[in-house]
Amino acid sequence: MCGIAGIYSFENINVDLLTALTSLQHRGQDAAGVLLFNKKFLLKKGLGLVKDVFNDESILNLNGNVGIGHVRYTTQGENTEESAQPMFINYPIGIGMAHNGNVTNTAELKNILFEKYHYIPKTTNDLELLLYLFTANLNINELTIENIFESVKYVQSIAKGAYSVLTIISDFGMLAFTDNNGIRPLLLGKKEFNSKISYCFSSESSSLDLLNYNVIKNMKGSEIVFIDKNFNIHSTVSEKGKQHFCIFEYIYFSRADSIIFNKSVAAERIKMGKLLANQIKEKNLKIDVIVDVPKSGYFAAVGLSEELNIPHKRALIPNDYIGRSFILPKQSQRESVIKQKFSIIKDVIENKNVALVDDSIVRGTTAKYIVKQLKNYGAKNVYLISAAPPLKFPCFYGINISTKEELIANKFNIEELKNYFGADDVIYQDLKSIKSLLGENFCEACFTGKYQEN
Ligand code: 5GP
Ligand code: MG
Repeated sequence: MCGIAGIYSFENINVDLLTALTSLQHRGQDAAGVLLFNKKFLLKKGLGLVKDVFNDESILNLNGNVGIGHVRYTTQGENTEESAQPMFINYPIGIGMAHNGNVTNTAELKNILFEKYHYIPKTTNDLELLLYLFTANLNINELTIENIFESVKYVQSIAKGAYSVLTIISDFGMLAFTDNNGIRPLLLGKKEFNSKISYCFSSESSSLDLLNYNVIKNMKGSEIVFIDKNFNIHSTVSEKGKQHFCIFEYIYFSRADSIIFNKSVAAERIKMGKLLANQIKEKNLKIDVIVDVPKSGYFAAVGLSEELNIPHKRALIPNDYIGRSFILPKQSQRESVIKQKFSIIKDVIENKNVALVDDSIVRGTTAKYIVKQLKNYGAKNVYLISAAPPLKFPCFYGINISTKEELIANKFNIEELKNYFGADDVIYQDLKSIKSLLGENFCEACFTGKYQEN
């Protein structure tokens, strides 16, 4: 999972681009980079957070009216500066690219690049494959919008998986395109100032909001959008395009203040919490207090509390200075970080029946530790509640859940999970309920194993 942003304007955009990237920081914390074009490409990227990579005033030396940027959450390839994004080529034409997602048939694409164009990728990043396949099919001597669209269609026809891509075509315009299933988000916003227009693409509407752009498009599957030098928009959606947006964006990934396809992420999360109330009523569980697992369980806990009319209180205090536990490579590292991550306010839970709400249970590291701590601090009963259905299948489209074995819902049934977590009950949302909220047109592979066809 990553975040991308791109701005096409009549004025210098360096600071705005950095602002957009910072607002997407939750989507990737391994590396950050920006690429501007001003007669030549200007690139700065590095490992770490946006504020670490751009910790000096160097961004102010990068000037340009057009630029793209990226925050990286490594799901494919190694986490090195060379593999970070954006990437660009200078010859035979200047093309710069950044993407969010995960191409699944990389071996096949590498083969095509080698057999047809004798090119061997320099990095392990799937973006490099998209960049060269796209460029190799451009008619650079007579570059036209039709030719650009044809080249994108070629990429869309051979590259499988999830990718939302932003591209600078030097001295020509800014291009955006998506995979055939539209798995990852990409939005376009427009701003008018003194009758001059600027456009901003971003993975989430929250960045557009922050920079005063009005959302004019949520990109669908197999869509292509091109903004030309005169600020005209050209776009097309292939008839092959399907709508299989990632359901996990609503559950966990996107920022709560984002709006995706006209649905507020926070509001949908609250509704997911409300839907959990049925199961609690059916089981007749007596609950004194509803506690969220910060920060991702917050809105589901609010919804559950509203529906059951039982107070929601904060009992877990996160330490914001501890890095993320989820993406650490070793389980032992994840467990050691999680211990430092939360502390407990004892009197909220002592002698109480606690409903502990998280957005999702993946490997079970977070839940196991917290349930144990709540019990240690005197909770009477702890009911562990997940606003997402059981995660049973790996995601190949950009979320770091790569093997079936590591998913706790695959290892145990509910009775065994109760035992494993030390919880008095374990309740998962059912997928039908989520679909009743969000509809059918989603990628739900992590719950059902139904992967997308190209
Ligand atoms: P677990 O500890 O069960 O492995 O993971 C569950 C926790 O990780 C939940 O609190 C959830 O918010 C969070 N989570 C779920 N998916 C992801 C992800 O793809 N990346 C990160 N960083 N956290 C995740
Ligand atoms: Mg969480």
